[in-house]
Amino acid sequence: MSAPLTARTIHRGRLVDVLDDPAVAGPGALRCEPDGALVVAEGVILARGPWPAIAAMHAEGASVIDHGAALIAPGFVDAHVHFPQVDVIASHGKGLMDWLETYTFPAEAAFADPAHAAAMAAIFLDELLRNGATTALVFASVHAAATDALFAAAHARALRLIAGKVMLDRHAPAALCDDAETSHRESAALITRWHGRGRLGYAVTPRFAHTSSPAQLRAAGALLRDHPGVLLQTHLSETMDEIGAVAADYPDACDYLDVYERHGLVGPRSVFAHALHLSAAEWGRLGAAGASVAFCPTSNLFLGSGLFDLAAARRHDVTVALGTDVGAGTSFSMLATMGEAYKVTRLRGGDLSPAQAFYHATLGGARALGLADVIGTLEPGKDADFVVLDTTATPLLARRCGAATDIGDVLFALAVLGDDRAVAQTWVAGALAHAR
Ligand SMILES: [Zn+2]
Repeated sequence: MSAPLTARTIHRGRLVDVLDDPAVAGPGALRCEPDGALVVAEGVILARGPWPAIAAMHAEGASVIDHGAALIAPGFVDAHVHFPQVDVIASHGKGLMDWLETYTFPAEAAFADPAHAAAMAAIFLDELLRNGATTALVFASVHAAATDALFAAAHARALRLIAGKVMLDRHAPAALCDDAETSHRESAALITRWHGRGRLGYAVTPRFAHTSSPAQLRAAGALLRDHPGVLLQTHLSETMDEIGAVAADYPDACDYLDVYERHGLVGPRSVFAHALHLSAAEWGRLGAAGASVAFCPTSNLFLGSGLFDLAAARRHDVTVALGTDVGAGTSFSMLATMGEAYKVTRLRGGDLSPAQAFYHATLGGARALGLADVIGTLEPGKDADFVVLDTTATPLLARRCGAATDIGDVLFALAVLGDDRAVAQTWVAGALAHAR
């Protein structure tokens, strides 16, 4: 008698993923299996290939889900998003500094109430899943209990979430400030509770240099040294006002990045949001350190912060992920974010191919988060985190995709016309986590 086979599910559809950075590997990095199938067992991709071959090898005893003409793509990686800012999305305002004071800080102060934080965690994670993001790098609030609520909710959903309690001890309302010692102690305790538990990870999260004292940035550096597996996330060079404020706060630093460097915060596990106004020297040092940046086009356009220089990132070999940056970002949709990234690149006089945009939203994000061995493509052995994208979600999308010339053209139409309506299903570790 043979041993019982592990329960397997076969997903049939149009498989699409990007195997490497198309800027380096060329357009062949975009892979499509028009009538393909993904075999999933115990939350992991067991096999992939053309449907006839997969059916012959694996169909016996497996359940088959036929997604028809829909795309099956790796779950998106949202590399920069703020958990406490769901309710400030689409708030009319001015630039970054005003926007923080008027909308963001009051909204974040409400997260002192753990019940509010728990309720908002469910709403926040629902939005990620509705938009096909199966992994995210998240700023929580300054409150340890709110950060616990976010981690607990993500753990219950088996989501691959990396998050951190925000550290800030100045230039913000007193109710939102901690201090260097408290932020160190609470962050260390959160790392112990959550880092490496299930699919969760921790990111040390100083908000940005202006809102952290030198003592607090030293504490952040100590956390990174003492906990080698954790990430560092913060903001860098978003607006000219902010850069001026940081220069006044840290007069000895030669530039903005130097503030982080001298506190031990720049390395291969660091993800910097925005990076809009960097000098060539700063780009060079980011590349040499192996650090990553999160390109957040909807936020940069909304706040009028600036236009990300993707060409400079490529020149200096800096890994680029995509982030929604909700609530300054205007959509949780990584499809919409890809479309806006294209427009920003055009305003810079450059180009962003559909494959390239899709790379930044999937494998590029996985690389930035140090997770490329477990997510980002539809390779056997990786986590079964994927989205089912419906190219007929709206009449216009159906019409446009029906006339598409190739898979790149389909992805481009989805990026420009698509949003959460195009995400038919989101699968997390092999389980259905969202269905439209
Ligand atoms: Zn942000």
